[in-house]
Amino acid sequence: MDIKKKDIRALTKEQLRDFFVIEGDQAFRGNQVYEWLWSKGAHSFEDMTNVSKETREMLKSNFVINHIKVDQIQKSSDGTIKNAVRLHDGLIVESVLIPAKNRTTACVSSQVGCSLDCRFCATSRLKRMRNLNPDEIYDQVVVIDKESRLYHNRPLSNIVFMGMGEPLMNYNNVLKAIDKITSPEGLAMSPKRIVVSTSGVPKMIKKMADDEVKFKLAVSLHSAIDEIRTSIMPFNATFPLADLREALEYWYEKTKNRITYEYIVWDGINDTKNDVEALIKFCKFAPSKVNLIEYNPIDDGEFQQANSKAIDMYVDMLEANNITVTVRRSRGKDIDAACGQLANKA
Ligand code: SAH
Repeated sequence: MDIKKKDIRALTKEQLRDFFVIEGDQAFRGNQVYEWLWSKGAHSFEDMTNVSKETREMLKSNFVINHIKVDQIQKSSDGTIKNAVRLHDGLIVESVLIPAKNRTTACVSSQVGCSLDCRFCATSRLKRMRNLNPDEIYDQVVVIDKESRLYHNRPLSNIVFMGMGEPLMNYNNVLKAIDKITSPEGLAMSPKRIVVSTSGVPKMIKKMADDEVKFKLAVSLHSAIDEIRTSIMPFNATFPLADLREALEYWYEKTKNRITYEYIVWDGINDTKNDVEALIKFCKFAPSKVNLIEYNPIDDGEFQQANSKAIDMYVDMLEANNITVTVRRSRGKDIDAACGQLANKA
């Protein structure tokens, strides 16, 4: 029966105000309810204590509040927490809290499954079922903010869209979620503390630039040589490096924001001098940062993390070319919560 009712959180504040006016009430009632839904995170109409019982009943007969439910929590020995989150239709996504010395980062999902086919990523083995709605993305952040306060005595400080899915293939909803996260009526977080990570969808990178978004961009590059990139990220055949590079130039031209590249070095795949030279050539046009991320094996052994000599070569050559480089250790591996390990296994 509830299926026919509309999710009240799909309404904008304006639409909610209009709804109350049509119902013969006053527009400000819409503001009150909106605040309950977003700033106060109400999960039921009963929670809305400054709204009359009659109005609550009326809302209940017209709408539902679809909210996520944490199905399972796993805690890693390093403090990382992974939430398996159940959506209103029973599908599951995962989100991760990553504590560090001076920050807590939420790694959130943007889709159920993923339509891309990166061969080293566990999520790519799940079929893309659907896009997440803005409220489903927002709720993951709210849950992690609460966990951060509970387990680490501080609010959430950063968000990365590096969970399941390709955020730029669910661009509108990701943008709406970020609007809520950054708005004073939501969590009032600074967009500078939000990173959207993409496998590289050129058209959407240009759209982000045109929309003058204020959050940061990270690109999962992994190789700056088409042939190699296509062999590990087959969609690169559709969005080749030249197109990606052109979109990034456009992004930099418009935003003047530094570009971050995520990059894993694998044994026998991209561990030669030639690979580093191609990377330098690719990213030199703008201030760049390369995060060399640790590979998290996803069991068939085809991909192996390169040895430290190869990593050192990358670091030395990038630094010699004035490209910022960091070597990132992965977190939460013991609970399959690290990058590329999210696959609803638990
Ligand atoms: N689709 C987006 C966001 C999800 S993936 C993107 O591609 O950026 C988040 C990051 O995890 C990406 O940089 C991705 O390349 C990386 N990743 C995927 N599988 C991994 C693995 N097995 N080990 C380490 N990092 C991985």
